[in-house]
Amino acid sequence: MMLRPVLPSFATLLVVLVQTVHGAPSTGNPFYGDPPDQNHPWAIHDRNRPQPKVVVPGTFSTASQPGKPPSDAIILFDGTAAALDKWESDSKEGGPTKWIVKDGAMECVPKSGYIRTKEQFGDCQLHVEWAAPVDVKGDSQGRGNSGIFLMGLMEVQVLDNYNNPTYADGFAASVYGVNPPLANALRAPGEFQVIDIIFRRPVYDGDKVLDPGYVTVFCNGVLVQDHTPIEGPTGHMKRTAPKAFPAKGPLKLQDHGNPVRFRNIWYRPLPPRSVEGGTDGFLTTEATKAKRAEIAASIRADGAKLGANPKEQMLRLAESLVYAPDAATQKTVEGLAATYAGQIKALAGAGLEARKNEITQVMKALQYLAKAGVVPATFAPKLTLEQISKAAGWDDEKK
Ligand code: MG
Repeated sequence: MMLRPVLPSFATLLVVLVQTVHGAPSTGNPFYGDPPDQNHPWAIHDRNRPQPKVVVPGTFSTASQPGKPPSDAIILFDGTAAALDKWESDSKEGGPTKWIVKDGAMECVPKSGYIRTKEQFGDCQLHVEWAAPVDVKGDSQGRGNSGIFLMGLMEVQVLDNYNNPTYADGFAASVYGVNPPLANALRAPGEFQVIDIIFRRPVYDGDKVLDPGYVTVFCNGVLVQDHTPIEGPTGHMKRTAPKAFPAKGPLKLQDHGNPVRFRNIWYRPLPPRSVEGGTDGFLTTEATKAKRAEIAASIRADGAKLGANPKEQMLRLAESLVYAPDAATQKTVEGLAATYAGQIKALAGAGLEARKNEITQVMKALQYLAKAGVVPATFAPKLTLEQISKAAGWDDEKK
């Protein structure tokens, strides 16, 4: 009789394998990728770099059904009559708008004037859906005309260009008078068009352009403005000229005499660019230095709590020196490293072998620190661990 071997199932093996590969959740290893430099406050694959925030995605809209906004979106119009309170008449004195809410959409009442959000905001991902009147009237710029005015200054055109030609720089999804859309991806009148905009306002320092600002637009999922540089506030008949925008402004929707309908309007503010104080991307040397000092201080505060474990404290404090020098921390690290190397040197035989992985980890950390210029290549504890590793034959083993 054959005995059935007791083998773990394939599924069990897979679980073990996955756990082995991934281990405990980890955001990366210290002393690993290229260290911070003059323009990058973070190391490559830096475990100290903050995790991206969690956003629960929404659902996509269709021509007949509005989708659900992502979890962190700021809702400007959700189809309810109450949401009209977030808008006002775009007159000097403001006040309630005469636009109406009908069948889950906000409709322009011709001759009642532009509307604007009470809230003001700047750089954003903006989502707007609009539908031209089913009752097709007029042609060229006279058919289903409205407009999405970013910060109240720059129009992304709303126009029924379904079988309706007009001048190219005035097409639906054009930056009005500046740049035609890359395509006409419109649905028929009456159906909702889904517009997604990524807007970065122009940033100046006095007269100096720090960033011209850009707008990217998708119309029904089709790219129609590809990081188009902003050439100032848009206008009719006149060429625009680049200029600084304020930090914030309202979103405006245009009354161009047509009962265009809007629904599902929301935005997500975007983080600052490096030119305006953001700390991701390519930074100035000053900004990098400041951020590196901040990261170092945070790691040092963390390291200060590890007194019960001198080796871990040494490594954590040493990690901080990769970001910014600090004489007191340097002295502490050098002292802890010397003590550690001395203890390891006193070990022999099996005692040493049992701690091989740990000793190798510390040796590699010290080698990284030497490469990063934190300690000299001849740093005594580093040399001690290298000699121990070599004498034990660990260097010759397959890595
Ligand atoms: Mg318009």
